[in-house]
Amino acid sequence: MADSSHHSPYSLDPANIVWGEDGSPRADSYGDIYFSQESGIDESRHVFLSHNQLAERWQALDPNTAGQFTIVETGFGTGLNFLLAWQLWQTLAPASWRLHYISVEKHPLRPHDLQRAHALWPELNTLASILQHNYPPLLSGQHRRMLNSAQVCLDLLFGDALECLPALLDSPNHTDTSTQSPSKGSVAPVDAWFLDGFAPASNPAMWHDTLFSCMGSLSKVGASFATFTSAGFVKRGLRAQGFHVEKVAGYGRKREMLRGTFTGDAEIDAPLLDSVAVPWHRPSAQTPVKHALVIGAGLAGCSTAAALAKRGIQVTVIDRNEPSSGASGNPQGVLYTKLSPAPGELNLFTLHSFLFSLPYYRERLNKGSIQGDLCGVLQLANSKKDAAQFDQLQEFFKDQDWLQFKQGSELQDISGIPISGRGYYYPKAGWLSPPSVCAADLAHPNIRLISHREAISLIDDTAQWHIKDNSGNTVASGDAIIIANSNDAKQFPQTRHLPLKPIRGQLSYIEASALKCEPKCVICHDGYLAPAVNGSLCIGASFNLHDVSVDLQDRDHEWNLAQLDALSPELLNPPVTVRGGRASLRCSSADYLPLVGAAPILEDFAKLYAPLGKDARRRISIPASNYRNIYINVGHGSRGLTSTPLCAELIASYICHEIRPLPRHICESLSPARFLIRKLVRNQPLE
Ligand code: SAM
Repeated sequence: MADSSHHSPYSLDPANIVWGEDGSPRADSYGDIYFSQESGIDESRHVFLSHNQLAERWQALDPNTAGQFTIVETGFGTGLNFLLAWQLWQTLAPASWRLHYISVEKHPLRPHDLQRAHALWPELNTLASILQHNYPPLLSGQHRRMLNSAQVCLDLLFGDALECLPALLDSPNHTDTSTQSPSKGSVAPVDAWFLDGFAPASNPAMWHDTLFSCMGSLSKVGASFATFTSAGFVKRGLRAQGFHVEKVAGYGRKREMLRGTFTGDAEIDAPLLDSVAVPWHRPSAQTPVKHALVIGAGLAGCSTAAALAKRGIQVTVIDRNEPSSGASGNPQGVLYTKLSPAPGELNLFTLHSFLFSLPYYRERLNKGSIQGDLCGVLQLANSKKDAAQFDQLQEFFKDQDWLQFKQGSELQDISGIPISGRGYYYPKAGWLSPPSVCAADLAHPNIRLISHREAISLIDDTAQWHIKDNSGNTVASGDAIIIANSNDAKQFPQTRHLPLKPIRGQLSYIEASALKCEPKCVICHDGYLAPAVNGSLCIGASFNLHDVSVDLQDRDHEWNLAQLDALSPELLNPPVTVRGGRASLRCSSADYLPLVGAAPILEDFAKLYAPLGKDARRRISIPASNYRNIYINVGHGSRGLTSTPLCAELIASYICHEIRPLPRHICESLSPARFLIRKLVRNQPLE
């Protein structure tokens, strides 16, 4: 049988570790060591922490401001450098600051190898066990983890540094050549670089100009780097990108190493970014944000408010009703995603947002700040087409602890109800109460809620944005606006063009005794069924594209019950009485991806990108024209619980000029401007 694993968009080659007699790990394929045999800890501290002057720099951070310090590392390996940096950060950095640690790793260690390496350092035990607990699955791509109540944000980029680092370019708008753009390096995100990644002699491929070029593009002026190597071509490569480079004494027997600082004064002829990015999605015209206004207090709005508040931004959330009164008000939302073997942005986005959401919610559930139960989610094949994909999915997602493939009687064992066929099971997922998630998000002291006021117009006086109500009264004023009010996002003149589709959905509540057996986990079929809460079961949800009413309809209750009957004909205990329900409108987009990013100015796009109508493949390098500091976060369909935490991070990364939580090509495919571009390419009118 042909081996399809190498076609998987998710596969990677884990590290092949050979354990030495002294207990230290060695990479077989590179013939090199992970750290010094004698004292890995001391060498790491000397090379990476001391030569980036982290202790001095962290002690000098202003405790009266909130901020972020960003380190990028090549070669995560065992995470030793990360653990040491984190330990030092905890001792020295002010509580109002966050550490953002981005590390790229082509061959991640398997979890048991990671544990074995960590066992060498009892003094790092506490942090090492948090890392082990949050270690991402061995799947390629960017994995973000919020550690210590988001004091530390770890981005693990599983893949080749030469592919993953270019995908971070244009995270902030420092490469924007438009007139509003600040000067080079002034809003770039990176403060320090740890160039690890095996010696250039054993791993020449990684020490490439692409790496140096990414460093030049992502560094703040004054950013530092340190590396154990003193190779001449590394020194020259970094100098060419605008780094001042020094040779200093290495650790132990190593005579020399390199360290240095980014001055930003090199002339770069052809920036790497211009050849890889589409310009139309990049946020432009940004000004500093101290106070943000979020419109909509559902999952999208509340999670965005919380992500900004954690970064020290004051946030006002405005809703015309109470929080979570729309589709985010359902009592039980399911944390799940549908997997597809097809490559592409949609599947990469849904998978990565799901994998991010699991530990994100788990931490909050463990603290008791939100309600729900991670009792497992079983996704059944709904069609022959679904079932046909399972073999391939099983091949793509081998040996994953977050996913199990089940069939036949296993389905009943896991779910507690008589079903058969095929399915896959997420043991770490479950259901959550979306209103409790919204309430927990809003509980941050930096957030103020204004409920029962409707945002009707958005007025820019060039210093601030003002949100006005129906009578022209100001509801709130601030530096930025995030439009997160679902289908109503179209009501503003600036965003009237957004192609959002309301989809009506109704849940039905029935007594637990209406079923002959008790569901033990969430079961997703054409609808879903969650375990009972207080003797009541929640089933649903109906799906209607042509009805925008939110009243309860008998027809939908009947549909929900019929789905349950189709799931398992022996399940229902007639006569079944529906005790109530809830109907709401989901907000979805034509390509099923949410709309997350800067708000494009339609009139400007029509002019700037008109040439695409004649030649769709033409490379246009004109930067996008967006409304100053207006962002959109809508279109999460029925999966808001899963997709909103990562999208909130994305919006916050744009506003705060951080490295994004997703590679650029996925951010491009989430950009609200994509629909305007598609229309221009097809020569369709924009309105
Ligand atoms: N910093 C690590 C630690 O604290 O344990 C040690 C890193 S080890 C010396 C070098 C790492 O670089 C290995 O884990 C290796 O898989 C990784 N690596 C090598 N080439 C790479 C590439 N092209 N892209 C990303 N990672 C790479």
